[in-house]
Amino acid sequence: MFDKILIANRGEIALRVLRACQELGIATVAVHSTADADAMHVRLADESVCIGPPPAKDSYLNIPALLAACEITGADAVHPGYGFLSENARFAEILADHNVHFIGPKAEHIRRMGDKIEAKRTAKALGIPCVPGSDGGVTSDEEALKIARGIGYPVLVKAAAGGGGRGMKVAQHEDELTTALATARSEAKAAFGDDAVYLEKYLQRPRHIEIQVLGDGKGNAIHLGERDCSLQRRHQKVLEESPSPALNVSGRNTIGDIVTQAMRELQYLGLGTVEFLYEDGQFYFIEMNTRIQVEHPVTEMITGLDLVLEQIRVAAGGDLPLTQAEVEFRGHAIECRVNAENPSTFLPSPGRITSYHPPGGLGVRVDSAVYQGYTIPPFYDSMVGKLIVHGKTRTECLMRLKRALDEFVVDGIETTLPLFQKLVRNQDIIDGNYHIHWLEHFLADGGMSR
Ligand code: ADP
Repeated sequence: MFDKILIANRGEIALRVLRACQELGIATVAVHSTADADAMHVRLADESVCIGPPPAKDSYLNIPALLAACEITGADAVHPGYGFLSENARFAEILADHNVHFIGPKAEHIRRMGDKIEAKRTAKALGIPCVPGSDGGVTSDEEALKIARGIGYPVLVKAAAGGGGRGMKVAQHEDELTTALATARSEAKAAFGDDAVYLEKYLQRPRHIEIQVLGDGKGNAIHLGERDCSLQRRHQKVLEESPSPALNVSGRNTIGDIVTQAMRELQYLGLGTVEFLYEDGQFYFIEMNTRIQVEHPVTEMITGLDLVLEQIRVAAGGDLPLTQAEVEFRGHAIECRVNAENPSTFLPSPGRITSYHPPGGLGVRVDSAVYQGYTIPPFYDSMVGKLIVHGKTRTECLMRLKRALDEFVVDGIETTLPLFQKLVRNQDIIDGNYHIHWLEHFLADGGMSR
């Protein structure tokens, strides 16, 4: 096992990793930018190192500074959290060159899944069903027009290097395709430095259902069920739940088995999420994330497993905690991503939290790094925290969520709590009857002002 882990992240995920390390008896090193000197993860870690000024490119993405921090503190492993360097294969390789373990998959798998064209090719070869689309990237408008005719409109132009919902453009008809290609290319070039794009059939009313996997890197893998992340705004997840209201046990087992078999063949190491769109009873692969995800607590609540702790164990060469037959799913869990944003316009609302009172009680969990008097800096994401609620049934879970949301007090800044208060009272949400475009329609129809 590792002796000392450096956590190359900030906010709630840095705290989450720190908690797992403490329960494993592993010493922790926090790193921080000058803007985060007062952050919770810095206060609670055994040691901390300032790695640069506020902009992420100069601090949390600064590989030489992170290497120096490992060297100074003698950390033997790095946990990257999510975002920042978590899916950077080069970072994993550089750490290995310096005899520091990267807590995550093999660099080869991070690289392959990071390129969505390559990821789809791999998925297809492993027998995972994919969204119909171009076979690889499209280089010319003529080629794209020809392929799109074959797929049928509407089509979606997607960036090979895409992430965070960026670099995606819909063409409803043929006359929109050239513009969609140009916009997606330039967005992708600006955001990721790579303008490679590909085409996919644009699905009209799918759900986003993803499968959580854990592999030991030696050919053993298990799946930990699904998360339904269909409530999205601008292709970004807002609320997640497990089990999916749209899936039954046999549906879960079928897709779970396909994915697990693929991970065994890959000899996949660590945590991963295989993401699908689900429409008319069919699963279509869209991408794989090779890291811990924001919404992982939903799975923890229904399986009773500490995913970060298991991730650290397998990274250190340990075995999987359970066999597939031993994995049990209990009850229902829902997560709300509470952001420092206006709940109707979604404009960021950074600033000082004047009072803070998180909800409590049975089945209620809040993963957050804020506290009363804390100032949310404007440089990073706008997350205040994640409220995760568990219940024996989906109905109990929703009732508990409603009361937990009503208990939650965050003053001094605007938050998205009022959005969730509306959602838990909405009949479609209560019925589990929603798809990836539902929330955008709800907002466009004035759902927040009714
Ligand atoms: P990113 O890596 O940017 O998050 P994903 O490929 O994971 O991109 O897609 C994010 C979201 O975009 C999906 O959850 C879904 O809402 C939407 N999306 C992606 N592909 C399609 C598609 N072919 N049809 C309809 N919606 C899609």
